[in-house]
Amino acid sequence: TGPRVVVVGGGFAGASFARALKREDPTIAVALVEPSEHYTACPMSNAVIAGLRDIGAQHFGYRGLEDDGIVHVPQRVVRVDAARRRAVLADDVMLDYDRLVVAPGIDMRLDAIPGYDAAAAELLPHAWKAGEQTLLLRRQLEAMEDGGLVVISAPPNPFRCPPGPYERASLIAHFLQTRKPRSKLLILDAKDAFSKQRLFEQAWTELYPGLVEWVSLSFGGKVTEVDAPGRTLTTEFGSHKAAVVNVIPPQRAGAIATAIGVADQTGWCPIDPMTFESRLVSNVHIIGDAAIGGAMPKSAFTANAQAKACATALANLLRGQEPGSPKLTNTCYSLIAPDQAVSIAGVYEPANGLLTEVQGAGGTSPLDAPRSVREEEAVYAQAWFKTITQEAFG
Ligand code: FAD
Repeated sequence: TGPRVVVVGGGFAGASFARALKREDPTIAVALVEPSEHYTACPMSNAVIAGLRDIGAQHFGYRGLEDDGIVHVPQRVVRVDAARRRAVLADDVMLDYDRLVVAPGIDMRLDAIPGYDAAAAELLPHAWKAGEQTLLLRRQLEAMEDGGLVVISAPPNPFRCPPGPYERASLIAHFLQTRKPRSKLLILDAKDAFSKQRLFEQAWTELYPGLVEWVSLSFGGKVTEVDAPGRTLTTEFGSHKAAVVNVIPPQRAGAIATAIGVADQTGWCPIDPMTFESRLVSNVHIIGDAAIGGAMPKSAFTANAQAKACATALANLLRGQEPGSPKLTNTCYSLIAPDQAVSIAGVYEPANGLLTEVQGAGGTSPLDAPRSVREEEAVYAQAWFKTITQEAFG
């Protein structure tokens, strides 16, 4: 029998990896441990919140993976015996592996902002894992009265999808402008700068004049306390009571990463950028949002790129060959309106023990571009979503 690889998590990273590894070498036995029957994708979920898209368009099953010969185990990994190379599932089943690939995504830090715990998240959704939280935020926006204030609290770096809060702000602004035009949107930010900032700010000025206000860290954007029943956020500069509050809290690698010892004190997982092998536990590899990806942003595009690079490296290692040195790309599209988008792209390679950006290889959409350019990018964004979900889930 061939080598055994166990994958923890069937999101963009884990599912893409399992399929890529089977393509590299069909003799490798690949088991994907993922508790959900279907995956709910985050990209495009901001359009669901704004009432532009059905949540059903975000659902993907594991049939495609099974057709490729991957075994989907509908369970949760709770422990790993690294010395015996054995993953333990919630139902006490044990899976032996030659290599373990950990791709659990993120967890919210529900102890980071006083007052924002699991119960508060049921009142003031983060909607940073797609599913029920996405629908809750959508219902709250639909139910609010015209003239209300919507507040988004954006987290410090690093976090899942750096342009995501601002894409969300744009689409909620579109929703308010068309459905509740007397309302306002306030973004309280724990940072002084954000991804594609000039493009987003230009879009807000042009498309939603007077509707969106962004408050940076230096001007009191950091939320220091949350009163969930009172829908009030306190900052160093005062407090804001809102009709709808979306708190996107600080984040860390999915809890299993800490449980098995691959996360460091930052809460994220240090890796060797050539092989994605953990710097803390051998024969365990981490890909996707949970990994410290150096300059690579935490995105589905990145998760997929890391998955393919890790599959090539692992197939080589399992054959007793050199892993090879990867070159990875990322492109993130953000909708600024239902039919308009902007993008950022980058190329990355291992250097000095980290994934480092290749200077001059990336860039963003041009500022001051005609509307047709933004519309073309929205078409690319839809095409990208179709391609990436097909690659990951078949
Ligand atoms: P996930 O997709 O979260 O998958 C992790 C999986 O692991 C989950 O299915 C979970 O159930 C499973 N899991 C966790 N713990 C265990 C365990 N113990 N045992 C078994 N399974 C476990 N990215 C883009 O590229 N483009 C975009 O336009 C974009 N838009 C976004 C918009 C929003 C609003 C958000 C929130 C994110 C967006 N992203 C986008 C980012 C993207 O969703 C993430 O970067 C991507 O999902 C990361 O993939 P992952 O596989 O690492 O984690």
